[in-house]
Amino acid sequence: TEELRVALDAAHGSARRDPLTELANRRAFDEAYAALKPDVAAFVAVCDVDHFKRINDEFGHAVGDRVLKTIGHTLATECEGHLVARLGGEEFAILFTGVTLAEALDMVERARAAVAGRRLRLRSTDAFIGTITLSAGIAGILAKEGQESGMARADAALYAAKNDGRNRVKIAPKSGV
Ligand code: GH3
Ligand code: MG
Ligand code: MG
Repeated sequence: TEELRVALDAAHGSARRDPLTELANRRAFDEAYAALKPDVAAFVAVCDVDHFKRINDEFGHAVGDRVLKTIGHTLATECEGHLVARLGGEEFAILFTGVTLAEALDMVERARAAVAGRRLRLRSTDAFIGTITLSAGIAGILAKEGQESGMARADAALYAAKNDGRNRVKIAPKSGV
């Protein structure tokens, strides 16, 4: 029965983990979002790698995967103590609780700067891959609005960050709810 318990725990964990980055996956993220307490301040950040298609096109999918792993690791390090998830593709999200907007913004900004400051090289030839950046949108979560609405506001801020030239973090306007 101990063996069974361990196997079940592992299955439970892997169902909520992204195998590439070993971060939480969308399912784990959605569950955590749904479990937010209405009286605790929370923020959501949505991050998307800039021009990621170029990395795959120029260097191949395996290199792209390694870049995603590195970015996931950087996000997890800079946003330690908060839920960092890979939503899918080259999109990540972070759920912040128990911090102010300024503190959450600071963590995302540090992660953005850390990614942009990396000089990734190809394992095979040691050639530079080039600068990789990410854009992000961050939104305060209101107890009375649903997850879709909170995520949509963070997404809109991300879209604004892309339109403003990428490699930046934008704060979503407060919800009108
Ligand atoms: P933008 O700055 O507007 O976000 O441009 P982009 O190129 O990052 O956006 P687009 O959505 O056009 O391309 C995303 C690319 O991400 C396309 C897809 O091949 C790649 N991708 C998605 N998931 C994975 C993955 O798991 N591994 C790798 N290597 N690539 C992936
Ligand atoms: Mg994308
Ligand atoms: Mg992208």
